[in-house]
Amino acid sequence: MKPDLYAVVGNPIGHSLSPRIHALFAKQTGQNMIYEARLGRPDHFAADVRAWFREGLRGLNVTVPFKEEAFRLVDLRTPRAERAGAVNTVWQEADGRLTGDNTDGAGFLRDLTERLGFDPAGRNILILGAGGATRGLLEPLLRATPARLVIANRTPERAVALVESFAELADATHLESSGLDVIPEGPYDLVINATAAGLGETGLALPASLVGETGVAYDLVYGPASRPFLEWAREHGAARVTDGLGMLVEQAAEAFAAWRGVRPETAPVLKELQQGLPER
Ligand code: NAP
Repeated sequence: MKPDLYAVVGNPIGHSLSPRIHALFAKQTGQNMIYEARLGRPDHFAADVRAWFREGLRGLNVTVPFKEEAFRLVDLRTPRAERAGAVNTVWQEADGRLTGDNTDGAGFLRDLTERLGFDPAGRNILILGAGGATRGLLEPLLRATPARLVIANRTPERAVALVESFAELADATHLESSGLDVIPEGPYDLVINATAAGLGETGLALPASLVGETGVAYDLVYGPASRPFLEWAREHGAARVTDGLGMLVEQAAEAFAAWRGVRPETAPVLKELQQGLPER
């Protein structure tokens, strides 16, 4: 039987690990499918995506810089995509309409709770950055009821806007915003770097007191780009540091489960990818 066809679209797309991750999932679960990388054309994104589905594509992942455009393009959205304001997973309904989902937040939370064993309930959490990735994390994080969640951003207005949009989910949490230069004093149990620039490039002077001795530091980027932030956290006493590779694998598993109805095991896939990446 002909394999079902899936793809990831982005620009650039050459370095995407998604084809490898989904090939490993498909092998592990015995699914007859092919998953390929496609270079998105900025001026033709919507037309290209609709044409691909007409031609038989079964599902699409969307990465930088098209997640917001995919949000506008789809006909239906899952509640978590609606909240995140961005779409990273698309499929077609029987009537031809396209549904958009966002699996980033769920992937992050699963990696945090299952691989790292970190339960956010009652904890103090700091997020650096207030872009699309932070927006995707907020709903699952707030539902996990931390005691305090601070969003600190270079442009403070963006952090203020996120606090306003998510206030209704923050019954159990003291949710607040700040600028990067006036972060409320720590220590925090979890510090998440969700800025698009590595710490080295930002020249950020983060206060030494941010991470406590039992604290976890989590960079959403993976590989060498995560090194400056994770080294900073180690030097300041973080008990555990991690890059975003686990989140990448978990968000892929969420998409795979939505498409194929079967949830792959992520630990062996993460292990295999870690062996192929330069040391962090
Ligand atoms: P985005 O929407 O473009 O937001 C960028 C954020 O970074 C903003 O808060 C921005 O602050 C901040 N920033 C950029 N340059 C900065 C600098 N020089 N100094 C201080 N802050 C700076 O990007 P995003 O979609 O949120 O993505 C953030 C990161 O998460 C990216 O590196 C992305 O690759 C990663 N990510 C990883 C996964 C995964 O599966 N592991 C999934 C999603 C995203 P301003 O508001 O002031 O501009």
